[in-house]
Amino acid sequence: MRHRYVDLHIHTSFSDGSLNPREIVEEAKKNKIAAVGITDHDTMEGVIFTKNIEPCGVEIVPGIELGTDYEGKEIHLLGYYCDPENPALEKTCEIIKESRYDRIKKMILKLQKMGVDIKFDDVLKQAGGDMLGRPHLALAVCQKGYCKTPAEVFAKYIGNNCQAYVERYRLKLKEAIDIICEAGGIPVLAHPGLYKADKFLPSMIGLGIRGIEVFHPEHSFLDVRRYIKIADKYKLLITGGSDFHGKAVGSSDSIGAVKIDYRYLHKLKMAKRVEKMI
Ligand code: AMP
Ligand code: FE
Ligand code: FE
Ligand code: ZN
Repeated sequence: MRHRYVDLHIHTSFSDGSLNPREIVEEAKKNKIAAVGITDHDTMEGVIFTKNIEPCGVEIVPGIELGTDYEGKEIHLLGYYCDPENPALEKTCEIIKESRYDRIKKMILKLQKMGVDIKFDDVLKQAGGDMLGRPHLALAVCQKGYCKTPAEVFAKYIGNNCQAYVERYRLKLKEAIDIICEAGGIPVLAHPGLYKADKFLPSMIGLGIRGIEVFHPEHSFLDVRRYIKIADKYKLLITGGSDFHGKAVGSSDSIGAVKIDYRYLHKLKMAKRVEKMI
């Protein structure tokens, strides 16, 4: 049988990606990807939008990526197959949205003090949906002519250690896991290789994580080998994807830059189905 591949980590213009879900699906078809995971930061608006896309042979896997806190570290949690209309999840996304707005306003105040004349509306114009992040702020700063590229804005002003940086509100990892589960989803630890904190993995997994993103553009061959072993040891589902953001930001430049065999998705779907029957 011909192998089919899937890419389970993709951002759309509803968060900080540059393509809308329809363009994502078209691009996936071109790249011969059988299924795409729509995993926007802190919103399921993009997933809801996919209901209007006419079927074209590319399967859509609903997802979300929540930024969380575990012992002071920023940990990203993927949630697959959540109900986008679940009230607890909707409320959480709304709270995060409001806190993201406040945070961007604080960053704008800092930028203004540094002589960068930018307004909240300029940033809003860069967003395709409810979610506002630093990439939108970076694009607005570029548009005003203060920098040439978003990367330059991050380096000069809004990167984690820069003067105009403001922390954002983050759910506790355990809270995020519980909300994903309550919404009928499967919580998966995103890109563990980026945290350089493997010693915390057993305790994080103990909080109720069901899967681990083994395949990611920033994982080395050795990372992949190590995380496969961990998945085996703790009986975790395995996922992977490109973390595609489009042209503006991100670590991969095409959908399917990291792709995994369809059988991993099959296992994820089986886990969801078994849950439904209980
Ligand atoms: P936020 O969640 O608002 O703090 O923004 C984080 C997002 O900014 C990440 O998901 C990336 O998409 C993007 N990002 C982070 N660091 C950089 C960087 N140095 N250059 C460009 N984009 C970045
Ligand atoms: Fe992002
Ligand atoms: Fe992430
Ligand atoms: Zn991501």
